[in-house]
Amino acid sequence: MALQLSPELRKKFESLKQRYPRQRSALIPMLLFAQDELGCVPDQLVDYLADDLDLRRMEVEEVISYYSMLRRRPAGRYHLQVCTNVSCLLRGGKQILDQVQRHCGVPPKTATDDGLFSYEEVECIGACTGAPAMQVNYDYYENLTPQSLNELLDQLQLGNTPSPTRQTTDFLKQQKPHSAEVRVVGRRFGLRNSAALTTYLKHDGYQGLEKALKEMTPEQILEEVKRSNLRGRGGAGFPAGMKWGFVPKDTDKPKYIIANADESEPGTCKDRALMEHDPHQLIEGLVIAARVVNAHQGYIYIRGEYRYVMEILDRAIAEAYERNYLGKNILGSGFDFDLCTHTGAGAYECGEESALMESLEGKRGYPRIRPPFPAVVGLYGCPTVINNVETLSSVPAIILKGGEWYADLGSERNGGTRLFCISGHVNRPGLYELPMGFPLRRMIEEVAGGMRDGKKCKAVIPGGSSVPVLTADQLDTPMDFDSVAKAGSMLGSGAVIVMDEDTCMVEVAQRIAQFYAHESCGWCIPCREGTAWLRKVLDRFHSGGGRTQDIPLLKELAQNMLGKTFCPLGDAAAMPIISFVDKFRHEFEEHLRTGECPFSRDAAAVATPL
Ligand code: SF4
Repeated sequence: MALQLSPELRKKFESLKQRYPRQRSALIPMLLFAQDELGCVPDQLVDYLADDLDLRRMEVEEVISYYSMLRRRPAGRYHLQVCTNVSCLLRGGKQILDQVQRHCGVPPKTATDDGLFSYEEVECIGACTGAPAMQVNYDYYENLTPQSLNELLDQLQLGNTPSPTRQTTDFLKQQKPHSAEVRVVGRRFGLRNSAALTTYLKHDGYQGLEKALKEMTPEQILEEVKRSNLRGRGGAGFPAGMKWGFVPKDTDKPKYIIANADESEPGTCKDRALMEHDPHQLIEGLVIAARVVNAHQGYIYIRGEYRYVMEILDRAIAEAYERNYLGKNILGSGFDFDLCTHTGAGAYECGEESALMESLEGKRGYPRIRPPFPAVVGLYGCPTVINNVETLSSVPAIILKGGEWYADLGSERNGGTRLFCISGHVNRPGLYELPMGFPLRRMIEEVAGGMRDGKKCKAVIPGGSSVPVLTADQLDTPMDFDSVAKAGSMLGSGAVIVMDEDTCMVEVAQRIAQFYAHESCGWCIPCREGTAWLRKVLDRFHSGGGRTQDIPLLKELAQNMLGKTFCPLGDAAAMPIISFVDKFRHEFEEHLRTGECPFSRDAAAVATPL
């Protein structure tokens, strides 16, 4: 059958191809937008895109098979994607999945007979503070309960699509800043039309850029950022100013700047809120950073699931062009900078910066050998700066108010504030902007309203699922990079997942292992085999079939991955498992002794609406 594409889609294809110096970069967005229209990626589309982008058919096929959002078979009209990753697991995600399965009555990824529904269990969708959550196509439904899910399914059955219930929107609108909060990047959260340029301009918008372009040299901007002690907010905590300083000045090659908005670390949903509620702040930060390294083209690489956020960003970018905050001769400074969004299509690995660049070039998201580092050889082989969304969003305030002011907000060597995503068994899960170094105990007891149902805290994952777990006797840890490292873990992405006394730590470890086994790109053996084995052993253990030798085996498997894999995902998979076995060995032994999980989870574990 001939391929039928609407005129709008063909126009979209042409505009996508204009965005990049190499047309292959348009492949993943073209596939995703075409899938939205056609329901899947049919053979004819593969042929069409291969021909259009001058690729071999196999090059298109290998990309499709890598990204979890791309599919060769049609889904139902409503594709229900239920998250069961740790934050959702703790608040009833598995019960939600069971309910969806019962409603559909077909295997995962298969359309019901009437073509209305299909479903699948997915990895973290970035709705952790609104857990349990699911997406229906691209729409988010959060804080689900069995009852609200039933109502949603009934409406969908009738062909109605209820308004999304997004915690990042509702919570931030209702939430007054807690007295402990110090709002820098989140200062416009909750304002009416906070994403609009008019709102941004009323609240200091683009003043940092004006100052940077009119009163400062690139060297002075760089010094100010270095003075601020701003460290990368994506996970690694590398000083932002130092990273920019690595970009060579004496090169004829074009330079690029990329905002890493592929937020996928389980427990993390801060960048989503920053882009949804304050997209101009990110744009302003990008232009300032571009000025420092003399880049004239930027991309915001955004995870595919965040489609509505990308639309908000696209509108903001158009507004910024209209007012000459982007484009040629910005604000009469002689500096040119172009910016556009780029959608991913479902791959945690693309959050790693070299894999992200491969993906932006239209390929599978395999990490690159380093050195050379992206600052020297990055996108299209050219010098490239990649920063996390929160990092870049912090820059306008630093330039406007000074690096010293920002540094003083935080702790030593850890400047400023941090957007913490607090999820799990607390009374008020949410996003809170707190000074770096704020104590974990106060964060849970005071800011997030304490433990749910008056239970005791058993453990906390302080920086997303890839970091070692902390125990209840470590709650006095100040939450900055250095103090959390001293406590034996990492601040990571600022995702604080709180677990109460009834949590089965074997189950949490199993869910983490499931995630990394799913997300390993499979390129290097210790990670490909190690993640699969960890998952297999923990599956067996949690279901009551564990063997005595499995406890040391888990540690041995994880230790064989540490430092031996090609990219940090191997360590990210291994470190939490080692910590769970070391710190909660008695729970593993209890599973062995009883032959079953000693923690019965019941329906009461389902979310308490905010
Ligand atoms: Fe791929 Fe894992 Fe190796 Fe990273 S560590 S390259 S994710 S297989």
